[in-house]
Amino acid sequence: MTIYEQLGVPRIINACGTVTRLGGAPMPAAVLDAFIEGAGHWVSLEQLQAAASKRIAGHTGTEAALVTSGAAAALTLAAAAIMTDHDLGRMERLPQTSGYANEFIMAREQRSGYDHAVRAAGATLVEVGFNEIVSNAGVRRTETWEYEAAIGERTAGILYCFSRHSAPPLNEVIEMARGHSLPVIVDAAGELPPRSNLRDIPASGADLVAFSGGKAIRGPQSTGVLCGRRRWISAAALQMLDMDDHFQLWDPPAELIDREKLNGHPRHGIGRGLKVSKEEIVALLVALDLFAGGAYDSERVEQRERLQTIVDQLQKTTIECQIRDPDDGESWPTLELAVPQRDPQAAFALCRQLRNGTPPIYVGHGRLHEGILVVNPLCIDRDDARMVADQIVAIQSLV
Ligand SMILES: *Cc1c(COP(=O)(O)O)cnc(C)c1O
Repeated sequence: MTIYEQLGVPRIINACGTVTRLGGAPMPAAVLDAFIEGAGHWVSLEQLQAAASKRIAGHTGTEAALVTSGAAAALTLAAAAIMTDHDLGRMERLPQTSGYANEFIMAREQRSGYDHAVRAAGATLVEVGFNEIVSNAGVRRTETWEYEAAIGERTAGILYCFSRHSAPPLNEVIEMARGHSLPVIVDAAGELPPRSNLRDIPASGADLVAFSGGKAIRGPQSTGVLCGRRRWISAAALQMLDMDDHFQLWDPPAELIDREKLNGHPRHGIGRGLKVSKEEIVALLVALDLFAGGAYDSERVEQRERLQTIVDQLQKTTIECQIRDPDDGESWPTLELAVPQRDPQAAFALCRQLRNGTPPIYVGHGRLHEGILVVNPLCIDRDDARMVADQIVAIQSLV
């Protein structure tokens, strides 16, 4: 019996990939070893975060960095840092932000549920542009002048959600923001691989960039990275770390925290509930080293074989199979399963039946409206792959 079954929680087959809802990415053995070793010793969390900052900065090319409790927490801390800087009174009042700049300008088409993390710090989002392509009312995307036209007294910065298809181009937005001395926060939580993005996105000139630690990096599910300018990382660290010390004894590492900028000792900040443990920090650092060094690339061959197992077994069904091999040499392949006539209803039904089976199987559900289920090989082994195919064959034989 697994530790989960002892709790009465059934094991599932996660053919979705790194999604949070189903437990995230598999941690490599070296990451788990680091977690266990890290748990056996005690260190100053400030010093550990300073060391992490140096290590992460080496991978991202930024001035400094912080291990956060996920990319969402990184976004909350980023917004808090920019709104308060090193002002103790402002830090203390968050999420109350009346009386100073608290608006982040964001393209309407880049909004998602994740921007709640920025609003949680007390920020207000100001939307610009339209979403004319989704509404089928036009061909244009958001344009940089629209951000500029929205800048006012209350503007604290720009929030940009990066993807391969995001518009307007990030560097254009940053150049415009620079002209107004406004910082730019980039949500790049899921934009790895390619690992070149670890450097390329910060190199665009963004002030702060958030990455997930529990997606393709394969660190603990509850970790993330905030990297960027030292000034903002210092303000973010101050609002996350435990502050219960005597000011005259407190000697934070200068690489991480700019004590010179403080005229007193902050209390626990808005990020105190977003804490990260020493074990999580070292585990994330090991995972980041592995990811950045390309250690996961060789798994693609085996991942493809797992998908091929499913394709072979589904030959005799009416499901149309297509393996997609990303061209970046780093991303895992995926398998698209198209139901007959690409009927969305049938795709939803198959997805539901797989979830209701024993064991429950969760497949990628982002394209059910196109009649397609997507299998991600990251969190399944060969037996799981066989089980996925067996279940689909069994379900198909009933229709
Ligand atoms: C996954 C994701 C997040 C949240 O990341 P966590 O590390 O789970 O907190 C934020 N923004 C985007 C765009 C994401 O895809």
